[in-house]
Amino acid sequence: MQTSPTLPANVQASSHSLPSYLQADNLGPWGTYLQQVDRVEPYLGHLSRWLETLKRPKRALIVDVPIQLDNGTVAHFEGYRVQHNTSRGPGKGGVRFHQDVTLSEVMALSAWMSIKNAAVNVPFGGAKGGIRVNPKLLSMGELERITRRYTSEIGIIIGPTKDIPAPDVNTNEQVMAWMMDTYSMNEGSTATGVVTGKPVDLGGSLGRREATGRGVFTVGCEAAAHIGLDVTTARIAVQGFGNVGGIAAKLFAQAGARVVAVQDHGGTIFREAGLDVDRLLAHVARVGSVAGFEHAEVLSPDAFWDVPCDILIPAALEGQITAANAGRIQARMVIEGANGPTTPQADDILNERNILVLPDVIANAGGVTVSYFEWVQDFSSFFWSEDEINARLVRVMREAFAGVWQVAQDHKVSLRTATFIVACKRILHAREMRGLYP
Ligand code: NAD
Repeated sequence: MQTSPTLPANVQASSHSLPSYLQADNLGPWGTYLQQVDRVEPYLGHLSRWLETLKRPKRALIVDVPIQLDNGTVAHFEGYRVQHNTSRGPGKGGVRFHQDVTLSEVMALSAWMSIKNAAVNVPFGGAKGGIRVNPKLLSMGELERITRRYTSEIGIIIGPTKDIPAPDVNTNEQVMAWMMDTYSMNEGSTATGVVTGKPVDLGGSLGRREATGRGVFTVGCEAAAHIGLDVTTARIAVQGFGNVGGIAAKLFAQAGARVVAVQDHGGTIFREAGLDVDRLLAHVARVGSVAGFEHAEVLSPDAFWDVPCDILIPAALEGQITAANAGRIQARMVIEGANGPTTPQADDILNERNILVLPDVIANAGGVTVSYFEWVQDFSSFFWSEDEINARLVRVMREAFAGVWQVAQDHKVSLRTATFIVACKRILHAREMRGLYP
């Protein structure tokens, strides 16, 4: 642990050693994030004195979420909302419903939101939330009750100018509608701007549902052009076929690419000639998984990592590409649709093998970019056309990617470190200008 020689020992201990619950050892995604931040320090110049700010969340709320189940019993669930940094604006980030959600995970996801929002230069800080629950085991009524109670519990720290949730794994437009309604009921006035990713009829934005996948596709095409990879003939493997992976696969297929392998929580399928993505999307909408799709071979989950492909898109959960499978990946490029899918060890292996990694903090920023457009539209109650949204999204993503690519060339660093350099400079410059209060 580094300490400053200019501070008395008692102050050093309190201000420079991280609280135990924030330290990197055995902290999963939060540990990964801390290692990523540490790699940026040499490039920050005088701003590095503020870097400690990014190694702790500004605010973390743990809430009890009790609901009455359909069978009449009361069940308690654990919920979280973490605001990692608000130097550049209100907190912004999704809400995840998953049985494996932990505080460490939500902290990391909130920190990656800070980096992501700064990387694409939208005026938000970073936040994230979640409930430790398997929503697939809840009825519709139970899902609504858990959403509303959670929203009420975190209501003390969210709001259109404080912290604006959005969909993430296992949450969708309906969940956002309930969150907006609950917050509005408690406030006594309709506050559409409290969440993004809402239904279009309730102040949602056209193009939001597809935005993350479209962003993945956009930066993927930009990067492919830099390394001489033709996306119109590329073979794609996608892990996670939900909002992000499903749309990204569809857009690549529309561009002419062959989506040769798809894995989700229910199964892994392969077809060398290319899967029919539209049919697969319809199948998943019907049965809830790619499992059972007739027009493909079934692979074991582990065999997914050996599939010959040009582009691999992890679009499910964190920690999927590890030291154990990074050496087997055949792709020339990995586009991180998911947040935190690659461990730092795996990152190093991919870099050594000359496999280009488009990091989550830029690759999946399309969702929050259109969330920003939604928030702006809600404030002005004036809505843009889908073409306008998509054109603005593509412009923001291309500009952000070009800036990051240049920094990577200038410093001879990975795109992940380059994105962290760009983002940390913006956040810490804001921190420095605002100063400390009191
Ligand atoms: P989603 O719930 O729509 O889809 C998740 C997909 O992952 C599903 O196909 C599911 O079957 C699959 N999956 C779950 N567990 C799996 C496992 N163990 N192995 C293989 N597949 C598994 O979620 P989403 O919104 O598409 O989010 C996916 C990732 O993208 C998450 O990391 C999320 O944080 C990130 N992300 C989402 C958005 C967004 O706008 N939705 C924006 C940025 C980043």
